[in-house]
Amino acid sequence: MPTITKTQTLKIDGSTGEGGGQIIRTALSLSMLTGTPIEIINIRAGRAKPGLMRQHLVCVQASQAISDAIVTGAQLGSTTFSFVPSAIKSGDYIFDIGSAGSTSLVLQTLLPALLFANTGLAAQSTVTIKGGTHNPLAPTTDFLNQAFVPALAKLGMHVNIERQKVGFAPIGGGVIKATITPFLRRANTPSFTLIERVDLVNIALVASVLNLDYDICKRELASTQASLIESGIDKTLITTHSHKLQGMGEGNTCYAQVTHQVGEPSAQPYHQEQYHQEVFTLLGEKRSSAENMGNRLAGLVKRYLLSTNALVDEYLTDQLLLPLALSGGGEFSARMISAHTETQAWLIEQFLPVEIQFDVVDDDKTLVKVIA
Ligand code: AMP
Repeated sequence: MPTITKTQTLKIDGSTGEGGGQIIRTALSLSMLTGTPIEIINIRAGRAKPGLMRQHLVCVQASQAISDAIVTGAQLGSTTFSFVPSAIKSGDYIFDIGSAGSTSLVLQTLLPALLFANTGLAAQSTVTIKGGTHNPLAPTTDFLNQAFVPALAKLGMHVNIERQKVGFAPIGGGVIKATITPFLRRANTPSFTLIERVDLVNIALVASVLNLDYDICKRELASTQASLIESGIDKTLITTHSHKLQGMGEGNTCYAQVTHQVGEPSAQPYHQEQYHQEVFTLLGEKRSSAENMGNRLAGLVKRYLLSTNALVDEYLTDQLLLPLALSGGGEFSARMISAHTETQAWLIEQFLPVEIQFDVVDDDKTLVKVIA
């Protein structure tokens, strides 16, 4: 797919739609993949602190490093910059955000480009990123490993992410290392479908603390479990796990990984395993009790299990659009279409000859079609 090379600069208004950091990251990914020079203006115009923050700046610098780009005007607080990429180089890279900024978001910026780097040579890349591994408003490393990476594998995209050190805000100090295998699409592969939710297979509840009382984990897990069982969810499908994390600073996270069987097995091109995994995450807050966290986590799981029979939840929906557009298209059922998802679809269509459609089935289910 990304063989298109454009020489004319594409001007992108960073205040369009959701208007956040995602526009910068996706524009960088697509600029590198298609060789399109870009100029982004009005960066994060509607946010309390507009312009490039540290995590976004590292996304620009890291993209520059892997694609030998010429960059003008990118510094902390910039509301506009331009980026002219050259060829993407596979290799072994190390980037340091220098704050607790999200390592996941930096990785997601580089991933598409490195999946398509030197594909003829089948050259693996590694990317080591230092910063935060558990950030609010971003995927955690757990989300990447338990939901995003398994979904990519279904598309034939193979990425391994190792969390070497955990890092919570405000201190950070986390390290992730991703190994990316170049993507080669097999000829005549059927297009991807992830539509029909069949049986619930398992709900894995995981609570972790970093330099905090271990009892917090037990209380979070007990209240999540009790609330799920009370709403009629089969107790035998729930497993619980707790971990004491090692690292700097303090932190607490709990998440639920929900696994369903998927219908229409023959329509999944690369994967024999017919399961779909969603992850719902919360980060501990000083003013929130463990019981409150547990109940809120149960609420997220119940909303997904009881209000919809779509397979893909809010965050994975926006994160799947680009990999799908790059791997030949496909369809999936989504619980909701967020502003992030709509903005992502708009931006992808600026760069690639694809059409992204949202067919609303009902209030809690939309069919997302990526036609490549
Ligand atoms: P932005 O707000 O533009 O920086 O984009 C945030 C990105 O983080 C989007 O791709 C969201 O899907 C993702 N995201 C936000 N919160 C979560 C969460 N709790 N779990 C997984 N992904 C998330």
